[in-house]
Amino acid sequence: MLKGINPYTQEEIYSFKSITSAEVNHKIEAAQNVFKTWRRTSFNERASLMLQLSNHLKKNATDLASIITKEIGKPISQSIAEIEKCAWVCEYYAENAEVQLQQKNITTDAQSSYVSYEPLGVILAVMPWNYPFWQVFRFLAPNLMAGNVGLLKHASNVQLSARAIEECLRLVGFPESCFQNLQISSQKVEEAIKHQHVKAVTLTGSEKAGQAVASQAGQALKKSVLELGGNNALVVFDDCNLEATVKTCVQARFQNNGQSCIAGKRLLIQDSIYDDFIAELITQVKDLKEGHPQGTDTYISVMAREDLAEELEEQLNTSVIKGAKIRLGGKRNQAFFEPCLVENVTSEMPIFQEETFGPVLAITRFSKANEAVELVNGSKFGLGVSVFTENDKLINDLIPQFEDGAVFVNELVKSDPRLPFGGTKRSGYGRELSDEGILEFVNKKTVYIK
Ligand code: NDP
Repeated sequence: MLKGINPYTQEEIYSFKSITSAEVNHKIEAAQNVFKTWRRTSFNERASLMLQLSNHLKKNATDLASIITKEIGKPISQSIAEIEKCAWVCEYYAENAEVQLQQKNITTDAQSSYVSYEPLGVILAVMPWNYPFWQVFRFLAPNLMAGNVGLLKHASNVQLSARAIEECLRLVGFPESCFQNLQISSQKVEEAIKHQHVKAVTLTGSEKAGQAVASQAGQALKKSVLELGGNNALVVFDDCNLEATVKTCVQARFQNNGQSCIAGKRLLIQDSIYDDFIAELITQVKDLKEGHPQGTDTYISVMAREDLAEELEEQLNTSVIKGAKIRLGGKRNQAFFEPCLVENVTSEMPIFQEETFGPVLAITRFSKANEAVELVNGSKFGLGVSVFTENDKLINDLIPQFEDGAVFVNELVKSDPRLPFGGTKRSGYGRELSDEGILEFVNKKTVYIK
């Protein structure tokens, strides 16, 4: 059973049965059939549908956003922003896919030689609940533009979002079966990966799910892309613009109730600015408006599921036993978790080593730049890092030293359709978004004409 519980009211909002193996096979066959014609459509035809999809999202942003808010408790203004970002990624690929996939001529001793970029076919996407529309759209926009077709296995707790996305594509006129929602539990994913018509799989989620899906894809010799957890550091040097930096750090950690892979989870503050920074941080975190997720000015509300809040509480408690000091918040009531600042955090503690998927900010002091680099790289994850300083020389010196997939200077790590997105180490492999993302699931075909 796939169950949806509104985390704010604790009411059950749906209970759906997983579809049968025969139904899964039927959908995969239908996807393969439509692929044969979809791959032959022109970029103009695909772009026109993608732009209609973008407009549809913009027109229906509030209604679609309410589904997200009901399913995972995300404050409504942030859910609306999520839908708007989906509209943007549709536009971005409608406008850029043709150029990104243009044939590349290469001079050799042949009369003509080139690389062409052709779709692979049916691609499976296993997606998480934390950005239930965005994570799906950043897969579907490049892939449908590339001529692939998509299957979605969405997280069990966001099945209404999954249905709504499928419906959006149907309403704007995408051919039937071009993008289908597979209403299945995670146990059925392997069957889908094994199916001969499924050519590749992408997963966003936990390390555990990533390991399972990557090994199944490996067994079947199919390509996979993994976007897993992160434990991004926010590195604050004493010459930063204090107020602006605190504001950015607060947003980096507490937006979406702290449930984001690219959230700034570890705050590293240089000694000389430490006390002033903490004082401003406390002021700004106390100012965050808590409340009902449907409230238009709410910034902090419940976490997506009570079990996730319990898990966070356990990570926090174990870290406190090891010497961490809670400076603000940290109390849990069902799925509600008070925004929490924790000091004296060391690299032996769970809130430093593990991904904390909720509103807990782990704070550590450093004195020299090389210590900060060591702390940043000390994580098993490698999604991104933010550095705050006005010193250009320091920035240029530091950027090559970080092992992460992204470095943002004086800004939080964020995804942008124009920039590649993905991690190193246990944050996964492969890239989404930009030209790098659209090139993940294409056959880079070498052609040589003597
Ligand atoms: P999961 O990784 O379990 O879920 C993500 C997706 O993977 C869901 O669609 C899930 O389906 C599916 N899935 C889970 N296990 C398997 C499997 N063995 N084979 C195939 N598919 C699978 O995340 P959780 O919801 O359990 O969250 C747990 C933790 O994961 C969080 O606390 C956070 O640390 C991390 N996470 C990270 C995200 C990120 O963006 N990096 C996003 C979400 C979670 P189903 O829901 O049916 O189990």
